[in-house]
Amino acid sequence: MKILLATILTVALVVIGICIFKTYKEKHRLAKIVRNILLTGLLIVLFNLVSLLTRFEPVCLVAYSAYFVASDWLLYFLLQFSLEYIGNDFEKHVKKKYMCLLLLADSANILLNNVFEHLYTLKHVSLFGGESYYELVVYWPFAVHYFIILMVAAFCLISLFYGALKAPVFYRKKYMTIAVIMVVLIVLYFITFKSAIDVSVIGYVIEGICIYYCAFVYTPQRLLQKTLFQVTQDMSVALFVMDIEGKNLYSNKYAEELFDTESPLVNKEGITLEQWCRDAYMNQEEEFTKQQTFYRGDEELILKIQLQRMVDAHKQLQGGYFVVQDRTEEIIALRKERYLATHDSLTGLYNKQRFYEKCEKYINRHADKELLMICTDIKEFKMINDFLGTKTGDLVLQNIAIMLKEQVTKAIYYGRLGNDVFSILMAKEDFSEALFAKEEQGAYFSGMTRDVSFPIINYIGVYEITERTLPVSVMCDRARMAIAKIKGDYHKRISYYDNVMRDTILHEQELISDLNTAISDGQLKMYLQPQTSVSGELLGAEALVRWIHPEKGFIMPGDFIPVFEKNGLISDVDRYIWEVACKQLRKWKEEGREDLYISVNISPRDFYFLNIYQIFTELVEKYDIAPQNIKLEITETAIVMDFKRQMELISRLRRTGFVVEMDDFGSGYSSLNMLKDIHVDVLKIDMAFLKKAEDEERSKKILQMIISLSKELGMPVITEGVENAEQAKFLSEMGCEMFQGYYFAKPMTVEEFENRYLR
Ligand code: C2E
Ligand code: CA
Ligand code: CA
Repeated sequence: MKILLATILTVALVVIGICIFKTYKEKHRLAKIVRNILLTGLLIVLFNLVSLLTRFEPVCLVAYSAYFVASDWLLYFLLQFSLEYIGNDFEKHVKKKYMCLLLLADSANILLNNVFEHLYTLKHVSLFGGESYYELVVYWPFAVHYFIILMVAAFCLISLFYGALKAPVFYRKKYMTIAVIMVVLIVLYFITFKSAIDVSVIGYVIEGICIYYCAFVYTPQRLLQKTLFQVTQDMSVALFVMDIEGKNLYSNKYAEELFDTESPLVNKEGITLEQWCRDAYMNQEEEFTKQQTFYRGDEELILKIQLQRMVDAHKQLQGGYFVVQDRTEEIIALRKERYLATHDSLTGLYNKQRFYEKCEKYINRHADKELLMICTDIKEFKMINDFLGTKTGDLVLQNIAIMLKEQVTKAIYYGRLGNDVFSILMAKEDFSEALFAKEEQGAYFSGMTRDVSFPIINYIGVYEITERTLPVSVMCDRARMAIAKIKGDYHKRISYYDNVMRDTILHEQELISDLNTAISDGQLKMYLQPQTSVSGELLGAEALVRWIHPEKGFIMPGDFIPVFEKNGLISDVDRYIWEVACKQLRKWKEEGREDLYISVNISPRDFYFLNIYQIFTELVEKYDIAPQNIKLEITETAIVMDFKRQMELISRLRRTGFVVEMDDFGSGYSSLNMLKDIHVDVLKIDMAFLKKAEDEERSKKILQMIISLSKELGMPVITEGVENAEQAKFLSEMGCEMFQGYYFAKPMTVEEFENRYLR
């Protein structure tokens, strides 16, 4: 009998040991408490085993006391478990601290029994067959221990029942299992503690394992089902589960809404969503995720449909399910975002980036289609913005966009490249100048701004796409270059890019990029053309720039000055030449030729970019030369542009001692009337003035008049472009005293000049 019990207890020890070991692997919040329960349970079984097997009374006595103390603490941990496991508010009513003190006192009391034997003692009992054991003889004070145990157990049970009552139905079973086992355990404890075989010990083992199982392993099947059902029902995606034949096994609330038969969702082909899913499931082997658009009346629904197949352990198909998500809002937001990123917000046309992308693709895909890149540019749009306000400016742009779409209906793409530049890609066969002609009338815009009707002129530049591999931006640049050619021309509205234009532009771009090195490397040279009396006696010289380019060779000013005048770089050239001229004058001064002067050219653009007065006063100071030795050649154009200011500047320069000369008189706006208002030192007349006229005799008379008049006004005249003796003769007879021209000498290097005139 003893052997049997010992074996059972040993087995129990091993099982509890395994459970304890497993609790170390659990991450559950109750793992520690369960471990404590199992550990005390283990001790109880162990001490029970000792008391059963020992032959020594004192050992048995100590084992019993340890067994009782351990049961105290087992109950304490059970209480802790009940409270925590249920997680209910019952905890408030149980003061664990007092409970702990009570149990400590009881434990001490029990341990003292080993000395005083005031609670219980042992009686040696012999059984049949030579077996014997120690029987417990309890005294009435031991009732305190039972009372405490009972009290704690009661708390445990109340807590479990209370929790079970409050818990959802599916959890109730779990709690009740533990509670029932606990009741059985306590009953056993009281019935059997005095018997030789304490069956309650087995109960501890079972209880411990049950607790372990309930806490960590067991999940009620129905609970699982119910939870899954709840979760899937409330999901914001539709779930539609089918068996292997495509029969509906389960669909959640949302799926039922989508499959609603009264107002079904149908796609463009008229197939309902449910049918579509079933077809896809039956026909397709593979799992997929697709985006599909379905309609319910006018409402558009963009759905993300995902098919998953379920297979068993042997890879046998079990069924499948669809997960359907409504992505409409997201996709519409995305489309909107994409629209904003690719369209111009003002006009709704493609923005630059998008236009380029679209054109590039189109041009690549239509290799044998003749295409045109067309750009438009509003004449003086800045003025519209400045005078009529940006709001009106915006309106103009919006109207142009509308107009383009209405008139040029056959364009492939429309875009707005920025500001007032619109662009169109179109087939050559669809193009005609008439398409763009209407806008010249400006009718579209009249009455648009309260009282102002502003004629809008749109320049059109056309590039025929001959080099198809060029970046689209370059094609647009070419169309715009064509515009640049006619800007300012009042008669032309449409301009075509051609290869000559390309070469010119390329050449110009090269010149522009080469200018800086040209100046720093001294490639720009000052040539001097003598100015003489009629007999050829040297008076001075005009400084004329030449560019000795390392690759392009000798470049005349006519080839690069207009280029630099367009962008203001002319000022760099002029400042450089002026400085060279002053340096030269300084050199001559040192050589004793202070009588010679140099005429320098001042471009009309210089007046915008430079402080002419300051520069020249600084130069004469720097080189210590007389201002009288510098003649400043100013053209009529420069004066007419800002008459009042220019006249002030001229008189200021003259007061300082500079000689101001009016260059190219007679070639521009000049009128005789102007002569009386312009106060300059010298009038310079170009012989080209005569050549241009049809009736030379008449022109000569005018020339005669001008010369006489200016002499009258005290302005000496110099004639340039004098090419032969005859010209020199009649000019001289007319009263001209200074001459410049090939007849006397061509422009030459400084060295040549010095060799010829100064040595
Ligand atoms: P411009 O100021 O009217 O200079 C006179 C031009 O007439 C020079 O041309 C000169 O070589 C040319 N010329 C002189 N005598 C005769 C002649 O008998 N027959 C003919 N057909 N031409 C004659 P160039 O040197 O080619 O200069 C052209 C223009 O470039 C100049 O016209 C001037 O406006 C401009 N230019 C030259 N150098 C400079 C400069 O350093 N700065 C600025 N801003 N402009 C310059
Ligand atoms: Ca000149
Ligand atoms: Ca001139």
